[in-house]
Amino acid sequence: SSAFSGKNYAVLGLARSGLAAAEALLASGANVTAWDRQDVARDRLAGRAILADPLEIDLTGFDGLVVSPGVPINSHPITARAARFGVPLIGDVELFALARSELPPHKVVGITGTNGKSTTTALVHHILETAGLPARMAGNIGLPIMGRDPLEPNDAGPGVYVLELSSYQIDLTRSLACEAAALLNITPDHLDRYESFDHYAFSKSRLFAMQGSEQFAVFGVDDAPTRAVMAAERARRPQGCAIAIDPDAIASMQGDWPSLQGPHNLENAAAAVAIAARLGVGADIWRKALTSFTGLPHRMERVGEFGGVLFINDSKATNQASTAPALAAFAPDPDPRIHWIVGGLAKEDGLGDCAQHLGNVAAAYTIGEAGPRFAELLEPAVRVERCELLCEAVQRAMAAAKPGDVVLLSPACASFDQFLDYEKRGEHFRSMVLALTGGGEA
Ligand code: ADP
Repeated sequence: SSAFSGKNYAVLGLARSGLAAAEALLASGANVTAWDRQDVARDRLAGRAILADPLEIDLTGFDGLVVSPGVPINSHPITARAARFGVPLIGDVELFALARSELPPHKVVGITGTNGKSTTTALVHHILETAGLPARMAGNIGLPIMGRDPLEPNDAGPGVYVLELSSYQIDLTRSLACEAAALLNITPDHLDRYESFDHYAFSKSRLFAMQGSEQFAVFGVDDAPTRAVMAAERARRPQGCAIAIDPDAIASMQGDWPSLQGPHNLENAAAAVAIAARLGVGADIWRKALTSFTGLPHRMERVGEFGGVLFINDSKATNQASTAPALAAFAPDPDPRIHWIVGGLAKEDGLGDCAQHLGNVAAAYTIGEAGPRFAELLEPAVRVERCELLCEAVQRAMAAAKPGDVVLLSPACASFDQFLDYEKRGEHFRSMVLALTGGGEA
């Protein structure tokens, strides 16, 4: 391709997306200078890229400095360095945007929000596949956007790239005009990387500012910052191009969607359906797709039902705004049914919206660094068992749960005090549950 041929790019951070970007740039004839602090990462490009640290070289004449979204550009010296040489600081999504004109006819869907991005991205992708369209997920969902063969149109229509975009990725993107985009919600998270909550909200709003006024946008209506972005976007678009998510419209359809439990997933489904409909998918197809969607691991994932007790792994709930809907998903029948495993490395003080749903909680099992603090906050409204470790919490919850109850890991905290990441925490929960229940007798 020609968008990058003969141009000079520096790539900082050679994990999956950075490496794929460097490879794609090389393949399209760019001169690439690449760096990662780990030498094993650098070695993969040895002999093909110039291996040098962009912090230490002269960046005069560079067309772009590609950084991984994991680089905190608010505090990292690379930001001042790029500014000094007048080099745009961009990410792999921007490279994708810059080369779009070379792709066969296609559309791009962008999905952002504090919570629900991955679920909605996977669901949009699943609906499009059910409709027979060529579709690919990429971005924050963990799949690099660069370095793969382009999607070719088929009889059903053009290819669709469904991008999950974190605010960090949007910060590094300047020219991505999505044919359809969704903003699910904006609640406090990642505030260590932004000067203020307003900056974080502004960062998300840029995805919509990059769209043309005739392009489609869907917005959650549960929080004021998202509504503010919606109002601004409505003001500059013709009617129907910026719409509110309407979970009630979906709820009234009475489908059976096993992997879309909880009110939050109705919002995600409503956003996904609005986008799919805009891309021409008919109601018969998206209804079928909502039923066949299998969901993502660690997000309200059904580990199984054993002895009448349902086990749910929601390890991805690393903030209170994502745990609150999990607690809302299981109403008393007639007594409170949730055995709630909560705690880890807290991102916020207090219980946030979780406090509204404590009536659904039979008992809380606190773990990790935030455990003692949560126990204090929850008592006496809720019976608390102080556990420290996840394995202890699972055992105690299992011993206490009655048929009809739910054992829910939805920690409202990051995992790094006790686990490598939320995936490891969720896998630990899942394998403990399967081991203790003999895993299998449904
Ligand atoms: P993200 O990719 O934005 O982190 P996920 O789909 O992985 O979002 O979900 C993260 C967590 O947030 C999970 O615990 C999930 O149950 C919860 N969640 C999903 N959708 C929403 C939503 N619309 N509002 C609040 N919480 C949500």
